[in-house]
Amino acid sequence: MSTIAFLGLGNMGGPMAKNLVNAGHTVHGFDLSAAAIAAAEANGVNVVAGGIEAVADADVVITMLPSGKAVLDCYAQILPGTKTGALLIDSSTISVDDARTINQQAADHGFAQIDAPVSGGIKGADAGTLAFMVGGTDEAFLAAQGVLEPMAGKVIHCGAAGSGQAAKVCNNMVLAVQQIAIGEAFVLAEKLGLEAQALFDVITGATGNCWSVHTNCPVPGPVPTSPANNEFKPGFATALMNKDLGLAMAAVESTGSTAPLGEHAATLYADFAQENGAKDFSAIIETLR
Ligand code: NAD
Repeated sequence: MSTIAFLGLGNMGGPMAKNLVNAGHTVHGFDLSAAAIAAAEANGVNVVAGGIEAVADADVVITMLPSGKAVLDCYAQILPGTKTGALLIDSSTISVDDARTINQQAADHGFAQIDAPVSGGIKGADAGTLAFMVGGTDEAFLAAQGVLEPMAGKVIHCGAAGSGQAAKVCNNMVLAVQQIAIGEAFVLAEKLGLEAQALFDVITGATGNCWSVHTNCPVPGPVPTSPANNEFKPGFATALMNKDLGLAMAAVESTGSTAPLGEHAATLYADFAQENGAKDFSAIIETLR
């Protein structure tokens, strides 16, 4: 069992740290929020006074923070005090460029580091079924396996440093476009007099099938657990989709890529997020009616 520093004990990091404690690891945690600290303490995390205290004797350092800037600031603070030989894992969703910068800074201090963003949301974090997309060397990936396992349903090594974040932004750009396309189809069906259940039955057995309809169906009825049945309570909040599309658009720009549908989806979600950030992102259907 390892001693793990866990920095960022929020909606995702809190339950992830809990699963590490339950697996028998010793977890030294820190967060800026008193509520997050109290919840983590109740889950068996040894809460300490700051990041430096958390990393002092840790074999593994996990960060689960809101932004690239937060991770950069955190690494600047902790790298000089991290134990020789420790493995650093950043599971925050940040830009590919920031992930590569952070990896290089860790290497400059002599540390192996991986980017390991996740999908699966708060439910997946709680259940220990997150999908981890990992960027880093083969050695670092292998070293991380045992630590990721109690938090993971699936762990995929995507390539060198930054590849985990690259996979995450590509996946979420697809997801955004699909959720809009499925919303458009259900609104068109309504206007054509086609029952939502009939369209659902056809799409889910045909070539248009995808997670945005079979699990996250944006109209009430066909999938009783989808957010559309519960006033669009997330789920995956529009604010987070908007953040991820911002990262995708930064990657499109920095690589000179062409992504007309992704760009349009990013514009639609940026507008929608202004008033509806707390709703599930499938609520974008409301703007299409
Ligand atoms: P959150 O805001 O609930 O948690 C982030 C926590 O980090 C907060 O509690 C904050 O106080 C803490 N924090 C900020 N700076 C800190 C520092 N220097 N030291 C210690 N703690 C610090 O956010 P979240 O929903 O847990 O998301 C965390 C990351 O996971 C984000 O990058 C997000 O994009 C990503 N993510 C979230 C979801 C989701 O469904 N919520 C899904 C996949 C990925």
